[in-house]
Formats: sequence, C-alpha cells, structure tokens
Amino acid sequence: MKVLVAVKRVIDANVKAQVKSDGSGIDLASVKMSMNPFDEIAVEEAVRLKEKGAATEIIAVSCGDAKCQETLRTAMAIGADRGILVETTEELQPLAVAKLLKALVDKEQPALVILGKQAIDDDANQTGQMLAALADLPQATFASKVEVAGDKVNVTREVDGGLETISLSLPAVITTDLRLNEPRYVTLPNIMKAKKKQLDTFKPEDLGVDVKPRLKTLKVSEPPKRGAGIKVPDVATLVDKLKNEAKVI
Ligand code: AMP
Repeated sequence: MKVLVAVKRVIDANVKAQVKSDGSGIDLASVKMSMNPFDEIAVEEAVRLKEKGAATEIIAVSCGDAKCQETLRTAMAIGADRGILVETTEELQPLAVAKLLKALVDKEQPALVILGKQAIDDDANQTGQMLAALADLPQATFASKVEVAGDKVNVTREVDGGLETISLSLPAVITTDLRLNEPRYVTLPNIMKAKKKQLDTFKPEDLGVDVKPRLKTLKVSEPPKRGAGIKVPDVATLVDKLKNEAKVI
C-alpha cells in the first residue's frame, strides 16, 4: 500500500509572525521555517502504518520554492521513502495545491493520502477536502485514530461533543488532528540517510496544472493589542469588575 503525505513548509510555530509594514502579508525574510506541525503528524502516522506492515511505501510531497527540499528531507528523516517537490515561486493557494496533489495521485495511485488538517500559516483547512473532491475519493478529516483493515480504513474523528468513527474504502484521503500521534524526534543517522533518498522535482506545468491565485489578499493586520492587567484588592471587587466593566458574568 502506497501512502502519499503532503508536507508544507511554513513559518515555525514558535516564531512570532510580524505583519509587513504595508499590510500586504507576513514578513518571512530571515524567519525560521519548519514543517507544518500537522504534517509532521501525517508523516509519523504513515511511518507507523509502514512499521505495522500496513503500508509499503511512503512518498512525501511538498509544493513551493526550492527550499521545500529541506521539508522533504525532514519527512524522509522521519521515515518517508522518497520525496516529490513541485517547484514554483508562485503563491500557492489551497485549490492550486489540491490540483497538484490530484495530478500526483493520478500518477502514483496511492491507497492513502494523508494531509494535515490545516496549515498554521494560512489556517485554510481546505486542501484535503478539495483534493478528495477533485480526485473523487472518500475523506476523513480531523483524524485522531487510523486503522487500516483490508481494503478499508477506520478513522476516528474529533467532532463537536465527542468522537466519531467512520469506515472508508481505500483509496481515501485523511487529514490529521493534533491527538493522532506524537511525532518522533529525527535522529542524526536518519538525517544522514535521508540525504541519499530519491527526490524528484516537477514544475506545475509538467503536471498540467495552472496554479494562478484565484483569491487576492486585501489586507493583513495585527490583532488588537491587549491592555495591561490590574490587581484587585479582593474577590468582591473582582466580581464587580467582571459584572459591570467586562460584562462577562
Ligand atoms: P490548508 O488547507 O492550507 O490549511 O492545508 C492543509 C494541508 O494541506 C496541510 O497541512 C498540508 O498537508 C497540505 N498542504 C497545503 N499546502 C501545501 C503545500 N504547499 N505543499 C504541500 N502540502 C500542502
């Protein structure tokens, strides 16, 4: 069973994003970039499926500029067998990525495609759903447990008010939630091994996909600054302020 995993290079989760002074976007110059955390969980899950004998080959895919090679090498250090970079300097929106992944699904015919539930930079939460629609595959989003059973995969999903378990026939698309697993640390020997793994590069044109943005960002702004806190002398004052100033009780 082949598993395709989508990994996006994003601003590191520990970096405080700074809005560009002209409000056109986030300043990414000389900022630490890493693999999207939900995608690390996706790679880890694929590796666990391989360790259990359910998967035979894991292909990591990243779409973006040449630096995405680093993200692919990290995926291969976690345990992906090979990588595919779809190289472009165009801004990629979820629909464009979904179309690129659809082209690779047609080419590679994986039984399972695992994506993160959302990228922490655009917070779109769209790519997996769009891919499932374009490729006409069943989908399970927000997975917190994945079990392959023959030609089916049972996925437990985190939904409002609890957990839902659904059964999908393979091939299928899954997006990962935070509690699916805890990704392993990459070890130095595995980083070295990853350098030798196969990494193929395509341009969007090679896959017949037009990645032109469909949406235009009008403005990006910082959230409003929080006011300073105050100390209250006693509980009665606190309750009074919560009731009459903050009006939250
Ligand atoms: P989004 O819909 O942008 O929130 O992204 C959801 C998921 O789609 C991510 O967690 C990735 O698994 C995948 N994805 C989005 N953009 C890319 C990209 N440029 N390259 C590879 N995977 C991506």
